[in-house]
This record gives sequence, structure tokens and C-alpha cells, in this order.
Amino acid sequence: MQLDFENQFLDGLSSIEAKKRLQKFGYNEIVVNKKKSKFKIFLSQFNDFIVWVLIAATVISGIMGEKADAITIIAIILLDAILGFIQEYRTEKSLEALKKLSAPTAKVMRDGKISIVNAGEVVIGDLIEVEAGDRVPADAIIIKSEAIKCDESILTGESVSVEKKSYNGKTALKENYLYMGCTVTNGKALAKVIATGMNTEMGKIANMLQSIDEMRTPLQERLDNLGQYLVYVCLIVCGIVTVTGVLRGENIYDMFLIGVSLAVAAIPEGLPAIVTVSLALGVQRMVRKNALVKKLPAVETLGCTNVICSDKTGTLTQNRMTVKKVVLYNKEIDITGDGYEFKGDFFINGIKKNIDSIMDSNLHKLLDACILCNNSYYILDRKKINFYGDPTEIALLVLAEKAKLSREKYKNTYKRIKEIPFDSDRKMMSVVVSDGKNKIMYTKGAVESIIKACSYIEINNKVVPLDLNYKRRIIEQNENMAKNALRVIAFAYKNNESNFIEKDLVFLGLVGMMDPPRREVLYSVQECRAAGIKPVMITGDHKLTAEAIAKEIQIINSNELVLTGDELDNLSDEKLVQNIDKIAVFARVRPEHKYRIVKAYKSKGYIVAMTGDGVNDAPAVKEADIGIAMGIQGTDVTKEAAAMILMDDNFSTIVEAVREGRVIYDNIRKFIRYLLSCNIGEILTMFLATILKLPVPLIPIQILLVNLATDGLPAMALSLEGAENDVMFRKPRNRKESIFSEGLLFKILNRGALIGICTILSFVYTLVKYDSDIVLARTVALSTLIMSQLFHVFECRSERQSIFNLGIFTNVYLVWAVLTSFVMLIIVVYIPMFQTIFKTKSLNLWQWIIVFICSGLISIISSIINYKRG
Ligand code: ATP
Repeated sequence: MQLDFENQFLDGLSSIEAKKRLQKFGYNEIVVNKKKSKFKIFLSQFNDFIVWVLIAATVISGIMGEKADAITIIAIILLDAILGFIQEYRTEKSLEALKKLSAPTAKVMRDGKISIVNAGEVVIGDLIEVEAGDRVPADAIIIKSEAIKCDESILTGESVSVEKKSYNGKTALKENYLYMGCTVTNGKALAKVIATGMNTEMGKIANMLQSIDEMRTPLQERLDNLGQYLVYVCLIVCGIVTVTGVLRGENIYDMFLIGVSLAVAAIPEGLPAIVTVSLALGVQRMVRKNALVKKLPAVETLGCTNVICSDKTGTLTQNRMTVKKVVLYNKEIDITGDGYEFKGDFFINGIKKNIDSIMDSNLHKLLDACILCNNSYYILDRKKINFYGDPTEIALLVLAEKAKLSREKYKNTYKRIKEIPFDSDRKMMSVVVSDGKNKIMYTKGAVESIIKACSYIEINNKVVPLDLNYKRRIIEQNENMAKNALRVIAFAYKNNESNFIEKDLVFLGLVGMMDPPRREVLYSVQECRAAGIKPVMITGDHKLTAEAIAKEIQIINSNELVLTGDELDNLSDEKLVQNIDKIAVFARVRPEHKYRIVKAYKSKGYIVAMTGDGVNDAPAVKEADIGIAMGIQGTDVTKEAAAMILMDDNFSTIVEAVREGRVIYDNIRKFIRYLLSCNIGEILTMFLATILKLPVPLIPIQILLVNLATDGLPAMALSLEGAENDVMFRKPRNRKESIFSEGLLFKILNRGALIGICTILSFVYTLVKYDSDIVLARTVALSTLIMSQLFHVFECRSERQSIFNLGIFTNVYLVWAVLTSFVMLIIVVYIPMFQTIFKTKSLNLWQWIIVFICSGLISIISSIINYKRG
């Protein structure tokens, strides 16, 4: 890119130019993906051949004189389209909920002076000024800087701050750029904006998060196939009804219109739409609960999950560490205090001590290491301290503050010369610092790793060789702390050497910190167990620490085991698979172990959810049936590989998502049951009339009314049904299970048949009783058909519980939907204007009793049949 170096320090942009650019390039904001326009969504509702046939037929009938009929049919089609539109529009809306990033302010050079503007108004070419504590408002290239460092964890997941340098006018390197959303941790800089809004690196990530993969789910695919099959069946039946009618001397045109209307009503064209809407609404509910589903099929798979493998730190625990104990060779110090508060007292053998009285060279060195071998930091912002970096390291800074040693003072005295960063394979990190005269290397890490790197130990300010006895003692001290759920970090150092490698170090001591479990996790673990899901902890932490926490949150019970990474290495894949059901905790594992663990569960046929944050976790996350990335701690790579992102890194959110997955599947079954049995009822009514040589029981406009009153609102309301009490008390569903399993097909068929038969019965009864008054008979049949569907929708609310257990009013949407449809029926039956259009007659009390007996009868017979089956 070309920068005009001559002008770079002058005025930045003029406010006029900035305004122009703002108009040209738009606001510096993270925006949601382009939406489908409302008009397009509406138009897509007519994307159906049969609807067009109906429209064409109606228009012809309108021209031929049946104007009122034609207008009503068109109105009904439009109303149907509006309902479809509402469903789809809500889906689009739900995606907007993903927008969560808010813009801070920015310091920009405008008209030659620094002014503070809304970060949204920053434009390309602006000169911005940032200093420690600021968030970078846009992607920019550094022109002038002083010791600038940035926390780019939001982009890279790496908590270590990166050093940045001014661009030298030649090749621009990564270290010359500042990225939007990152925080400046040190120094200051003047930089020129090169990208804003969605063109920034952050924008690209936001885009990725928003692009919910709209792959069709296996269930949707199966339903598509079923839908096609049903279309054929419906068309054949409609054909038979039409042809038979014509053969019996009915008007060809009337029969054709009946056939087409029946096809429109009976073909469950709304089914795929409702399934998609249910999935999308579910995704929206999950977002509200902090689970962002990236791949739609995951919603379905979630409901089948048998095993949830979760990281410990931050997911099961709070990741808010507090040092509770410092153990030197001959001294054990207990420390009080909560969270990251700088207040706390020191105790030895239960007696409170002044820190100065217990401070010796040994302890001092350990505290020096806490501060210097550390990449976290804090910034005082309006009397509040904001902490940045890895919580393990923050806890160490807080410990030093409690001992009156402040990081601020060390910053000026020591200069860091070298760092060997922490990685979860080595499980340690080192820094080399210089105070101008001497160089010292400080190392910290997991106890086993540190012991391996040490040859000496400092005791009473003397350095002596680290022999076996000493080592045993340290291991014992470590285990005692770990058993009490403390996470232990060991410290070591090395003096003045030319070659600073992690070898022959001097052992200093141990620090034990508490990372309390998240409060809600215990309940979620119990919920998992009740739901037949096995929760598994996977952690890099020590076996005993992991076990102690696992016991606290009941992830492990007395029959289950903890397996370490080393033990895992000695186990063949077959042996692992054989024993995997007994293991509840995997401790001291390396990221690559996770992949083997997922494989082992999968080979047993389990559906596995697996969390991950680091880059090395990506393969395991990808391999899992549900890969879950951490929203806060996770790296891009893991997020990309994942099917779901936990915005709050919380285990309980996974369980919530599983629960939601089950509810969605339940609801899909509910409205499939409803829609199909109703449609069978409609088709059968017409078909039975044909084979029984009866007059046509419903005219086209009435058929369409049934479709509108029942398939529309009530079906939609069913998709909003809340969770049933027992969703998390059932075993996970088998992924290969048919949507019609557990007798659903039988329920649909027998209910559909009963609706058809009862409607015909009411029709025949009225014909016989009222001297073949066809208008009245049709009104009774129409009312019976609609009422039986409105009764039936309540039965569809649960496959296991009766409506009286659930409470009639627990789904208010449904109550309103049913009332609306009922009022629609009353209007059509009683208001003269509609009577002429819909060819109906007012019903008297007795006729209503017939309607209710016939529609209610179905409910009773159906309950008896289902009761017997149950
Ligand atoms: P999880 O439970 O999510 O796997 P973890 O924190 O338990 O995370 P790692 O981060 O791999 O797992 O840490 C493993 C061990 O490495 C810890 O038990 C600790 O002894 C040590 N350790 C962790 N963080 C640091 C650090 N910043 N510097 C040095 N050692 C560390």
C-alpha cells in the first residue's frame, strides 16, 4: 500500500474530507450480513406450481362470472402468503441478533488537532492516536510509536502482548499494523487507518461468525423426500376425486377447481418452511443463551448427544484464579483474599504474619518470578482496575501486590531480553530479564516439567543440588495442594549465563491457586446424567487437581477413573475404546490426545460434543459430532472448525444447547403430526364422499378456508411450544431414528382417518336429517373438519402427557391462534356477506352439538386408542 509520507505528521484529514469519505465508504462498524429483502421473501411465497395453477383457475372463474369466489380465493392465497412471509421474515430477523459489537470512541487527527470522535466515524486515511489502555478503532499502519505493545487475543487467542513497530516506508510487516478491537497494553502510537468496518480483520471474523452455515439438515432432507412423495399421493387422490366427480355428471370446471384446491390444501407445502423456522427460532433462542450455532445440522445432532467432553479451566471453572498457598521448601504460607482483590493476609501454621517478617531471599525471588515471568497486566481506569491476560498469571501479579511488590516498579528496573512462551505441550514458560548489570532467567510451569528442568534447589538462601529426597518432598507438597483442588505452578531460576536454556535450573517453590467451579455447573452435570449424557472433563491440569474439582461438580463418581495423558500414551486404541466408559476425567493431556479421545467415543457409536480453544484443539473439534469453540478464549482456527461457539465459554451453555436441540426436535415432530393428520383428514373427507357416491362435501373456497384456519396459525404456534418437563429426563435419541418413530406414524394415520370419517358422518347425518339441504350439510362438515383440527392441535402438544397435565393455557400463542381460527369460522357461518361468499348457513344449537360430538368424538376415540397403545 502507498502512504504519503510527506503529509503523515501534518494534519490528518480535514473534517470535510472525512465526511466525504464517510459517505463514500460508510461507517466503521461491524454490520450484519446482507438480508434478503422483504419483497423477495414475500415473492418467494408464491414459488409453488400448484398455487399458480389455483391462481390461474381462479382468475378464469372470475372472468367467467364467479367474481366474489375469485376475489376470496385470491384473498385466502394472499393471507397464506402473508403467514409464510411472517415465518420467514422472523428467521431473517433472528440472524440480526448476532450483532453485538459496539463501537467505542477514537482519538483522531482532524484539521490539525486531535479530537475524540465516535469510532464509527473513523475513515480510511484518518490519523489515529492510541495509547496504553485504548482499544484500536480500525485497522491501521503505525507511523510513529513509542514502545507500543498490543493485546491481540481477540483476533489470535494468544494472551501474550505483541510488540509493534513503526512502518519504515518499505515492506509493511504484521508488526507494523494495529488491528481493530485489540487493546494497546503499552506505549503509544500514531497510525494511519487502512481499513474500516467489515473490511478490517475483526470484520472478517464477525462475518465468519455470522455466516451460519445453512446446509440442510438430515431431517430436512428426509422431509423434502417425504414431501415429494406426498405431493404425488395427493395429486393422485385429487385426480381420482376430480375424475369421479366428472364421471358422475358434475361440472368439469367445478371439479377441476375442487381438485386443485384440495391439492393446495392437502399438500403440506408449509412443512419444510415450518421446519426451517423451528430450526432458526431455535438457533435464535440458543444465541440468547450464548450458544452460537454455525452449522444448522448441529441443532439436530445436539439432541442426540451422548457424551460432552469439556475443558476444565474456564468452562467448568470460573477461570478467576486466586493464590491460596505458597510453599517453599521449609515454609508453607497460606494467603487469604478473594478473586483479584489486592487485599489479603499471610498465615504460617494458622498464625497471621506480617509479610516483611517472613520475606527472605527465597520468597523474594519467587515473587520476582511471579511478576517478571508473566505476560498479564492491569490498568487503572477511573478507580477500577482492569486486568488483561491469562488468569493464572493475573493471580500471580495479585499475589505479589499482596506482598507489597508492585509490577509498576519492576517495569522500570528490569528489561525483558528473551521469552520462551508457554505452550500446553511443554507446560512451562521462561523469560530472561536484565536489571542493567545481571541477567536472570525465570521459569514457571507444571511441577513435573519444572522438576525435570531443575538440578538445584534454593533452601534458606543457599543453592544445593536437587536430590531424590528433595524431589520426593516437592512432589508430596504438590500432591497435597492438588488434592485440595489447587492448581499448582512451580517456579525456578538461573543466574548470569550466556546460554539461557531450560536446563539446570534452581528450584524455588510452589504456588497453589484456587479456580472455583462455576456455580451453575453442578446442576448442569446432574442434568446431563438424568438426560443419559456422560459429561467428561479433559484438562491439562494435574490429575489430583482435576479429580478434586471433578468430585466437587460430580463429574466423576466412585466407579469412574481419571486417566492421565501419559497413561493414555501407553494404551492402544482398542484398549482405550474398551475402557472408555469407565473414564470420567482425562488429566495432564496434550491437545493431540483430544483427537484420540473423540475417535474412541465415536467408534463406540456415541455422538460426541467436544470443546476446544487453542489452535491444536482444532482437529479434535472438527472430528467431533459437535465441535464447540470458546467464544472468549478460542482462536479463529478453532472457531472455524467448530459447529457451535460458546459466547461465554460456559459448560452449562452446552447443556442448555442440548436441551434446546431436543425441544426443537420435539416441536418438529409435533407439527408434523398435526399437519399430516389434518391433511389426511381433508383428503379422506373428499375421497370418502367420492367412493360413497355422495355429493361434494366441501366446495373449493371452503377447502381453502380449512387450510388457512388450521395449517396456518395453529401449526406455527406449535413450533413455539416450550420444553416439556421431561426433555432432560429421556435418553438421547438415536441419530438414525425415523421422524415417525415411537408410534408417531400410527397416531397420524389413525387420527387422519378419524377426522375424515367423522366429517363425512356429520355431513351424511345433516343431509339425511335436513332433507338433503346441501348448503347446511356443507356448513356442518366444514365446521366439523375445522373444529376437529382445532381440538387435535392441543393433543399434538405432547406425545407423552395429556393436555391437562400440560395446562391448556401454557402455550398462549396456541390459544390465540385457535381462538382466531374459531372466530374466523363463526364469521363465515353467521355473517351474511361471508355466507354468500362461502356458501354457508347459520347453524342452530343442535347442529353445533352435532359438530362438537363429531369433532370431540374423534378426540375421545383417539385417546382411547392411544391410551390402549400406551
Ligand atoms: P484446560 O483445563 O482448559 O485444558 P489447563 O489450564 O488446565 O486448561 P493448560 O493450560 O495446558 O491446561 O495448563 C497445564 C498446566 O500448565 C497447568 O496445570 C499449569 O501447571 C501450567 N500452566 C498453565 N498456565 C501457565 C502459564 N501461563 N505459565 C506457566 N505454566 C502454566
